[in-house]
Amino acid sequence: MSSILIVEDEQKLARFVELELAHEGYEVTKALDGRTGADLALSGNYDLVLLDLMLPGLSGMEVLRRIRREKDTPVIVLTARDAVMDKVAGLDAGADDYVTKPFAIEELLARIRTALKRRGPSAQAPVAAETILRSGIVSLYVERHEVMVGNERVSLTQREFLILQALMQNVNIVMSRDRLAQIALGYEFVGNSNVVDVHVRHLRAKIDDAFGITLIRTVRGVGYVVRGDNS
Ligand code: CA
Repeated sequence: MSSILIVEDEQKLARFVELELAHEGYEVTKALDGRTGADLALSGNYDLVLLDLMLPGLSGMEVLRRIRREKDTPVIVLTARDAVMDKVAGLDAGADDYVTKPFAIEELLARIRTALKRRGPSAQAPVAAETILRSGIVSLYVERHEVMVGNERVSLTQREFLILQALMQNVNIVMSRDRLAQIALGYEFVGNSNVVDVHVRHLRAKIDDAFGITLIRTVRGVGYVVRGDNS
């Protein structure tokens, strides 16, 4: 059974989501302010955190930053409708996904299932025909959802992984920001390519900068490309 922490100060909404999740078989814990949410997220062992951004005590963004300093628990951010800056800022701070309020419960449940699946245990039985994409010392294991640089595993969010997968499946082909947004983020992000830039910045910090290689190249005015050899 997966355990989910809800950090949400609107008590009615928190209670509603709690009941729905419990009904789906999740183990649910509620926090009604940011400070409690951060304390629980850091001290507990949750499979996923649902995080409202507008919180008393400690803002949702600050809660997210504190979680990310120590853990890679999947976090789905709850934002106000059309708060594009919130979405970018949330993804920038390491959120895996976001859901805009008001949301249909089925939509939230689907996002939760996806986030849990993508972050699922990597110690599953080996897949018979595993797809491995390689560029130089970087290997991306499609089914396992893992990226290795040399012998080191790199922890990526779901969207970072999808963008890197799209680039590595199209080695030497320049991918436009809109194309990457469409593949990795969904149609709603097409035309809002700064979100792709945010993820690429994170990928570079985690891979290029961390290992001193050049994996993702910028093609000015067009988009991004991964070459066959990144050494
Ligand atoms: Ca709120």
